[in-house]
Amino acid sequence: MNIEKNLDRILKEIPQNVTLVAVTKHRSIEEIQRVVDYGIKDLGENRVQELLDKYDKIKGDIRWHLIGHLQTNKVKYIIDKVDLIHSVDSVKLAKEINTQAKKHELIMRILIQVNVSMEDSKFGIAVEEVESFLQKISHESNISVAGFMTMAPFTENIEETRHIFRKMREIYDKIKDNQDAFKNVNIETLSMGMTNDCPVAIEEGSNLVRIGRGIFV
Ligand SMILES: *Cc1c(COP(=O)(O)O)cnc(C)c1O
Repeated sequence: MNIEKNLDRILKEIPQNVTLVAVTKHRSIEEIQRVVDYGIKDLGENRVQELLDKYDKIKGDIRWHLIGHLQTNKVKYIIDKVDLIHSVDSVKLAKEINTQAKKHELIMRILIQVNVSMEDSKFGIAVEEVESFLQKISHESNISVAGFMTMAPFTENIEETRHIFRKMREIYDKIKDNQDAFKNVNIETLSMGMTNDCPVAIEEGSNLVRIGRGIFV
């Protein structure tokens, strides 16, 4: 595995304003440590248990991202360990994050996961729900809505993902321009793009990509 070479290439390909989150699911401690030692600070896990298993074993200055579906009853395990939760898709979950954040006297940054493509297998709220969702959660003062996350369905022809990322960007811009209308909303992060579709996501305005397979090959 050419982890360092892959990171060289990926970092050359993404613009400087785009944050690389290295997705470390299913990877060994040794492999992940190489990524951190290379200088990558942002690591993403999609399962709570895996994140907890790795949390104390990886050494360095790390910002953990919870990128996968999060069950309400597991928020308490990660609330003081993660920097950003990408996958908030229910009011109940947002409220639980707020409750746990308050207990720990911290403000948790969250992204709203939007299901732009409306593939029924994917998590996320519908495009039409975004504003009412923000209204419902924005009085929760121990969370800060930092932006949005979306996933495009896997496809061989990545051009097919463009309209999804474009739509997400339009929503991002619209809410950002109007964010004073909501409390506790400070839009700055647009999390979209994975190994196969990140070039298109970046062209459409992503400023955070979540890359797994491209690093560990
Ligand atoms: C696994 C995963 C990724 C990374 O996917 P790759 O195809 O390995 O780059 C990104 N986002 C989420 C939510 C994931 O679960």
